[in-house]
Amino acid sequence: MKTEFSLAQLADPDVAEADKILRACVHCGFCTATCPTYVLLGDELDSPRGRIYLIKEMLEKDQPPTADVTKHIDRCLSCLACMTTCPSGVNYMHLVDQARVRVEQQYRRPLMERLLRAVLAVVLPRPALFRASLMAARLGKPLARLIGSAGTLQAPTFLSRIKAMLALAPDRLPAAGAPGGTVFSPDGPRRGRIALLQGCAQQVLAPAINAAAIRLLTRHGIEVVLIADEGCCGSLTHHMGRDDDALTRARHNIDLWVAEADRGGLDAILVTTSGCGTTIKDYGYMLREDGAYAAKAARVAALAQDVTEYVAGLEIAWPQRRSDIVVAYHSACSLQHGQKITQLPKELLFKSGFVVKDIAESHLCCGSAGTYNILQPEIAGRLRERKVANIAAVEPDVIAAGNIGCMVQISGGTTVPVVHTIELLDWATGGPGPGLLNKRL
Ligand code: SF4
Ligand code: SF4
Repeated sequence: MKTEFSLAQLADPDVAEADKILRACVHCGFCTATCPTYVLLGDELDSPRGRIYLIKEMLEKDQPPTADVTKHIDRCLSCLACMTTCPSGVNYMHLVDQARVRVEQQYRRPLMERLLRAVLAVVLPRPALFRASLMAARLGKPLARLIGSAGTLQAPTFLSRIKAMLALAPDRLPAAGAPGGTVFSPDGPRRGRIALLQGCAQQVLAPAINAAAIRLLTRHGIEVVLIADEGCCGSLTHHMGRDDDALTRARHNIDLWVAEADRGGLDAILVTTSGCGTTIKDYGYMLREDGAYAAKAARVAALAQDVTEYVAGLEIAWPQRRSDIVVAYHSACSLQHGQKITQLPKELLFKSGFVVKDIAESHLCCGSAGTYNILQPEIAGRLRERKVANIAAVEPDVIAAGNIGCMVQISGGTTVPVVHTIELLDWATGGPGPGLLNKRL
């Protein structure tokens, strides 16, 4: 794609990066076929190619984003299916991340939307606040049924967003997991040492996920460190275009992880929420212009692994017996498109003795996408219906996924238990059952 940036514009490293990305696009449109919003809405401007044109024009003219440009960027899930499909290697992720920052800094949203976004950005990354908010939301849940859904695919309303937020709040909250600062010693001789990301929303909604990872790892000789004072990785606010907040969070964790690696040694920083994993693996890029952090960020990014990547390298005595439990594997976008981890979790589940079923249209997002299912509830709802129907077609006993956002989103549309892949791997290799299944291995 031909671009027309001035030399002065290209002096800005972000614009220079955007220029490189835009020039790689050859307008072929292959990406449109796998873009969930294009599939649903059929509007070229809600396709990757259409958004690329809008972003190009916005950057070249160097003008504040219009309401229309903002609308189409907001509708993008950042699912990155387009990056998997693109034959030219267009880095859409870095382009749309940059566009979101511009929107956040230069576009004035309606007051209620500004307020809602501010609340999400403050509450979600803080576990104590998030827990308190969920308890309050439980009281408001009955009201959700009274709120009429006046929103449409094209235009979500403030009330439809509040309704979606209340609907996502769980009926009960589990007890908190082990606190930061805890070190779990391995059973037997130590074969490795890792830091496990504690996460923000996940540690409130499903501490059982990291508990399963800790059991599996320590059973196989790995020391697991939960680092004190570790915070949110910044992924949530990064995807809302609030880069100052996201980068501050990234720098905070980078300092802690580097100090721990220097002090006790770390083979890896393991992540059980693939959305966070994709962001941490991108820290090197996100902080490339920061002289004080660029090298440290690259070091942390190189240490980051999805938990399944690390487990695949362990010597594990897999069960000899095969079970008849059918697992529908839901491939989280951040894992399959963001980190290109597609087969590994399924192979591990198969080695664990489960019957693993692929689901149709597995490249399409479930609609979770960070805060998307709150901010764009109608599109997210349609995507969930489609995902749940595809899952139901394989008649599973359980659904496995590697991302808490997907787990919450999918479980809102089905009665089939939804668990994290690591919970099944832990169960199959000697841990307790995930507690949701009435079947036995
Ligand atoms: S990230 Fe997903 S929703 Fe956004 S343009 Fe790409 S395929 Fe479409
Ligand atoms: S597939 Fe890649 S090169 Fe083709 S239009 Fe989409 S982003 Fe551009």
